[in-house]
Amino acid sequence: MKSPFKSLPSVEKVLSDNRVETLVQRYSRQVVVDLVRSEIDTARQTILDGYAAPDFDRLVQAIEESAETNWREWPVHVINATGVILHTNLGRAPLSREATDAARRAALGYSDLELDLDTGRRGSRQAHISNLMAEVTGAEAAIVVNNNASALLLGLAALASGKEVIVSRGEAVEIGGGFRVPDVLRQSGATLIEVGTTNRTYARDFEEAITENTGAILAVHASNFRITGFTHAPELSELVELGARHSVVVLHDLGSGCLLDTTAYGLAHEPMAQESIQAGVGLGFFSGDKLLGGPQAGIIAGKRQLIDIVARHPLARAVRIDKMSMAALAATVLHYIKGEAEEKVPIWRMIAMPEGEVASTAERWQAKLGDQASVESAMSTIGGGSLPGETIGSWVVVIDCRNRPGGAEALANALRHGDTPVIGRIEDERVLLDPRTVLPEEEESLLAVVTDAIRA
Ligand SMILES: *Cc1c(COP(=O)(O)O)cnc(C)c1O
Repeated sequence: MKSPFKSLPSVEKVLSDNRVETLVQRYSRQVVVDLVRSEIDTARQTILDGYAAPDFDRLVQAIEESAETNWREWPVHVINATGVILHTNLGRAPLSREATDAARRAALGYSDLELDLDTGRRGSRQAHISNLMAEVTGAEAAIVVNNNASALLLGLAALASGKEVIVSRGEAVEIGGGFRVPDVLRQSGATLIEVGTTNRTYARDFEEAITENTGAILAVHASNFRITGFTHAPELSELVELGARHSVVVLHDLGSGCLLDTTAYGLAHEPMAQESIQAGVGLGFFSGDKLLGGPQAGIIAGKRQLIDIVARHPLARAVRIDKMSMAALAATVLHYIKGEAEEKVPIWRMIAMPEGEVASTAERWQAKLGDQASVESAMSTIGGGSLPGETIGSWVVVIDCRNRPGGAEALANALRHGDTPVIGRIEDERVLLDPRTVLPEEEESLLAVVTDAIRA
């Protein structure tokens, strides 16, 4: 009997196939040769395991599929029709045109990132952004790092390593993605001292815990859940007053770090960076890509003397922000300085979009999609660890899938596999598309994908 291994083609034979030659042209000979070898090895293993070897065509197909999935451009642009404005799985905040241009400029050529153009000497990548952040928050100075998690780690390591940090029991929380306040504290070398109870903590609980070993008081914004009912937390100003009396620095993890007043948009109040600084905290920590509406970044704003200590800590270099994010952040903050954030920052445009405008977009879509689609009122959410439970009245296009093969899951899957993937949400065997989170320039692609999917 012929050995089954004899049916395996040589690397040369596979490489001479037209389809594989195309791959060699598109990528490079070396990576395709490696891929061919690896697929032949896989086939050999299949035979060793007692199964039939794939025939030549199946082998080439596997090679093509592997190249297409592993070497595709990534991440691909998707259209967010979920109605969740800050969707962590979709990259949180989309950037403004100006912020995108700034990041592109910083990426395409050289820049004065760390060069002082006046003196020709080395400059600081933090000086300019520190001034901008000081301007919008009222802080004396600021430093910007990779993200808020690393900002907090850096701040605690620089100010409280080897010391005790007092945190309310109700605020020793998990933010998501495995980020837990107690773990970050431990990593920073500080010891967590929990005070109060899950629902009620008073300033005196903090005061009783202060010792000569206290490095800081840390207040954390419960950004992704809400405790209601019989609750109490001390005002930030009470903690600041307490800290001043005992010479203990107060740190405030704001989470989102909003610069606009969310109550003006019918939402609950989200702590603002300005308020935190106004209350007199030593340092406030917040994200660049939540309600600020910029790139991933962590901002530490507060007293200059503390910022200087943080900036000199070796971890500051380890969590340094890159030039593209820095450029995008500076451009985003400029929108606030110019008073144009609501028109220019995409997430604020979405938050501010009147219900009537969402409704008329939904109706326009429905008219193009035909009678498989209908329009009804619904709720958009902020998401991304901001304003838990808060919703904005909205309108959605609904595609009822109860009589479609595969139901809503199948349609949602088809939408995710459109030329531009469209991400909707599923409710009761229906696919919902919320225009609030769809950018105007995405409308045409969205309608093409949805039209194709509902006809299929
Ligand atoms: C989101 C969040 C963080 C983490 O911020 P990243 O920028 O995602 O690293 C930390 N603390 C709070 C309270 C948050 O809401």
